[in-house]
Amino acid sequence: MTSLNLQHASLWQTRAHIRGRWLDGDNGFFDVTDPAGGGLVARVAELSPAQVRSAVDAAAEAQPAWAALSADARADFLQAWYAKVKEHREDLARLMTLEQGKPLGEARAEIDYAASYIRWYAEEARRIVGELISLPQNDRAGLVSYTPVGVVAAITPWNFPSAMITRKVAPALAAGCSVVLKPAAETPLSALALMALAEECGIAPGVINVVTGTDAPAIGEVLTGDPRVRKLSFTGSTRVGKALMRACTDTMKRTSMELGGNAPLIVLDDADLDLAVAGTLASKFRNAGQTCICANRLLVHEAVYERFLDKLVAAVSGMTPGSGFDEQTTLGPLIHRRALESVQAKVQDALAQGARLLTGGQAIEGQGCFFQPTVLADVNVSMQVFREEIFGPVAPVTRFACDREAVALANDTPFGLAAYVFGKDTGRLWQISQSLAYGMVGVNETAISSAQIPFGGVKESGHGREGARQGLMDYLDTRYTCLGNLIGQGA
Ligand code: ADP
Repeated sequence: MTSLNLQHASLWQTRAHIRGRWLDGDNGFFDVTDPAGGGLVARVAELSPAQVRSAVDAAAEAQPAWAALSADARADFLQAWYAKVKEHREDLARLMTLEQGKPLGEARAEIDYAASYIRWYAEEARRIVGELISLPQNDRAGLVSYTPVGVVAAITPWNFPSAMITRKVAPALAAGCSVVLKPAAETPLSALALMALAEECGIAPGVINVVTGTDAPAIGEVLTGDPRVRKLSFTGSTRVGKALMRACTDTMKRTSMELGGNAPLIVLDDADLDLAVAGTLASKFRNAGQTCICANRLLVHEAVYERFLDKLVAAVSGMTPGSGFDEQTTLGPLIHRRALESVQAKVQDALAQGARLLTGGQAIEGQGCFFQPTVLADVNVSMQVFREEIFGPVAPVTRFACDREAVALANDTPFGLAAYVFGKDTGRLWQISQSLAYGMVGVNETAISSAQIPFGGVKESGHGREGARQGLMDYLDTRYTCLGNLIGQGA
């Protein structure tokens, strides 16, 4: 088993956490493997459905007392948790690189990003402010207040093993909710380490519970079927998101769904091509292309098409695939063999339909799940790399002749998470950015996310927002109270 020599040994947790206790799984354990080397990393508790139900029991019992605390007290906890995450940044980053594979520099950046949501919601917790409505009748007043939705189930993916957790758990706690968190089975160690730090900060038993296991449908069934769970926040594939939403209808749970994307990146003929290439590299190849807001399709004006391709290929060829622990590495592995095969199949499909391979195109021989950084030119709308989320280091490039065609190509997808456009003419950029059917648009920028902004999509990319004030409102119900007969008896 891989050993990390963590500076803070208590961050290495392989058991689930329910009602303030670390628990073995009734169904034994499952293996977590290293995507860069294929070796065994850890054996983690495989919970039974009854154990997951006991986590909901714990959350339901703990929630009223947590909600009854002052906002200041909840904020103080979040602030302490934030400080712990920052203090143990290096250990947390190394754990993440071990189980997820991303280069250590990216893992460190994710820990900072994850921590930023905790700090943001520590601040927002103090700003849950209602309204007084003036009613048609003089003797009445309408009060609008915000109450926590209750017990929240959070289901998170493996591509951002820490940030996808904090941007659900932090606003839920700020609002006064309790949480049952199910992290992805590929990356449970990051989740459990965050839990260990929350425990060190004195979180009351049951307020955060972490349930681990590989039978995601069985765990999901318990969480979606229990009427005490009042909200499900999910980040993952559109297919699973739809199934979970259906399962939530019987108990009319609120949902937040952060699902798949198929982000276009448009390069106009007046764009700064070096800036566009740098933005493409940062977006397309971050986390080896396994990001829901990754530029999935590059749409390039015909006047700059070949020049853009030359620059892109030169930049992509300079990337260094390897273990995330090697500081030279700029491209980590894919998460598992299935992912590698899926990316390879999409590339094959494009080549069979006439795409031009400019660099890469193959899995890298060896133990890990590495794919060569790849550029495909002359991609058309019928190819899988255009229609589907690639989730790998493959940049497909399509040519367009005018702005209207670029927008039509960009919007030709059921997804609507993020889109990007590079150019110089402000009016033109404005028109295009406002015509894109996406929840988020980056103009001359691909690093668009932070705790301050409402992250989320439209169409089949889901609904609800994470970050910003909206990310807190998603965990609050609106309550209206009518105060009547406000007539004094005195003078
Ligand atoms: P990916 O293909 O990126 O792994 P998924 O949507 O399959 O995306 O997984 C995202 C999260 O959803 C993970 O935590 C996974 O275990 C969980 N998951 C997958 N299928 C189900 C399901 N049927 N019910 C509940 N959770 C699920």
